[in-house]
Amino acid sequence: MEKILNYIDGKLIEPSSNKYLDNFNPSNGRVYSLIPDSNSNDINNAVSSAKKAFENWGSSTKKYRYDILMKIADKLEEHADALVKAESLDNGKPESLARMVDIPRAPENFRFFATAMLHFSSESHDMDGKALNYTLREPLGVAACISPWNLPLYLLTWKIAPALAAGNTVVAKPSEITPMTAYLLSKICIEAGLPAGVLNIVHGLGSNIGDALTTHEDVPIVSFTGGTLTGQHIARVAAPMFKKLSLELGGKNPNIIFEDANFEKSVAIAVKAAFSNQGQICLCGSRLFIQDTIYEKFKEALLKKVSKLIVGNPRDENTDLGAVVSKEHMGKVLSKIEEAKALGGKILIGGNRKIIEGELSAGYYLEPTVIEGLDFNCSVNQEEIFGPVLSLIPFKNEEDVVMMANSTKYGLSASIFTENISRGHRVAAKIKSGVVWINTWLLRDLRIPFGGMKQSGVGREGGFKSLQFFTEPKNVCLKI
Ligand code: NDP
Repeated sequence: MEKILNYIDGKLIEPSSNKYLDNFNPSNGRVYSLIPDSNSNDINNAVSSAKKAFENWGSSTKKYRYDILMKIADKLEEHADALVKAESLDNGKPESLARMVDIPRAPENFRFFATAMLHFSSESHDMDGKALNYTLREPLGVAACISPWNLPLYLLTWKIAPALAAGNTVVAKPSEITPMTAYLLSKICIEAGLPAGVLNIVHGLGSNIGDALTTHEDVPIVSFTGGTLTGQHIARVAAPMFKKLSLELGGKNPNIIFEDANFEKSVAIAVKAAFSNQGQICLCGSRLFIQDTIYEKFKEALLKKVSKLIVGNPRDENTDLGAVVSKEHMGKVLSKIEEAKALGGKILIGGNRKIIEGELSAGYYLEPTVIEGLDFNCSVNQEEIFGPVLSLIPFKNEEDVVMMANSTKYGLSASIFTENISRGHRVAAKIKSGVVWINTWLLRDLRIPFGGMKQSGVGREGGFKSLQFFTEPKNVCLKI
């Protein structure tokens, strides 16, 4: 059985414990590879290698770093087919989705930030000719980059690329649930000639190695994407050490359909927003607010579309939903559906595990599920489920829907569907979330400040915001 290896000091190596964890294929429920069960020794080795590598990488020219990062991007593209298959196998997502979304974003992240660094500039403040202040932006040293399982390579490279472009070295910890494409990235970095220690990837359980990484005295900066509870924990342990922190956390995002919305388009987008990647995207629209005047008609059209979604083998090109990521996660989503029923919710479609006869019968498949009749304030409409579950909530007017949309502890993203441009802007201004889309969903420009309000995160990444995060500003004042 294939063993995944850690990438430390430029080499692929076994974990110091010599212990491994099972890596499951969600599409058939079987173990298909082994993941290093790393411990704090591996983290210490990775950090000391990254610290040493920073001596050269941190003072290298932007052009030197650009050349290597662009080479990594080229190699990622060369190996795209293998990466697509690996991502789908590890995560359960349809190969078609990995081919269209996940894998192309990895080289794009490297190219975008390698290039952005060449255009990055800092400020100067002239004191009426008496003195001149200018700001230097310097890399900090060893950056910890911690990423989740839902978009494994996409989100890992979203952190690694700007950290490296800015001149930091990195110790990355991908989710132990989906380690395979991070392992393939290690091999690609070796092929591309990335100097030893510049990027280190340590696999293992967050509960075992997370603290060793985030509280390491030689790691001054932590970029984390994952659940709100884990984010809270990291803030608790890292903040007293005055580390620079960026936290991209959970969401419970509203999609708001006004009566004047383009009907066909908004139905199609609402379905996509709820069920893409089996509902496991932090930006998924899991609360669908529909104006009461069109509620029944919209519901009927939505259910018709959902009934046509194909849940099946991730390798089949016509599959819409593959498997969810793990047996535990499947259980969690099913228990939320039970909770919805207990709270008086009516299951309009779905609600069950789906068994696919034959080879895939032990896979973790769930029917796309639509619920109505739940109070906007109940636990199912307030807590993140992170699965293929959509809750329908009618509303009367703008005031009513803004209040309900803003009622959760989260504030990551929202979508508004209306043909009235003034209403679109007015409601967007009142929604408390880091991203608001009007008449679309998941349209991403890598230059925008991306992140969440309230308990969806702290700080913004994307474009120059990422480069500002991964550099420390230093003011120099020259008396003239
Ligand atoms: P988790 O918070 O469980 O895990 C995220 C990462 O943190 C994993 O690599 C995990 O490792 C690691 N980790 C766990 N414990 C610690 C610790 N004590 N110290 C340091 N690292 C630790 O999230 P999931 O992987 O379950 O991802 C789903 C969540 O991510 C959802 O809430 C989703 O909304 C959010 N998310 C947010 C995004 C955003 O941009 N705002 C984007 C994508 C997802 P391990 O897996 O080994 O436990």
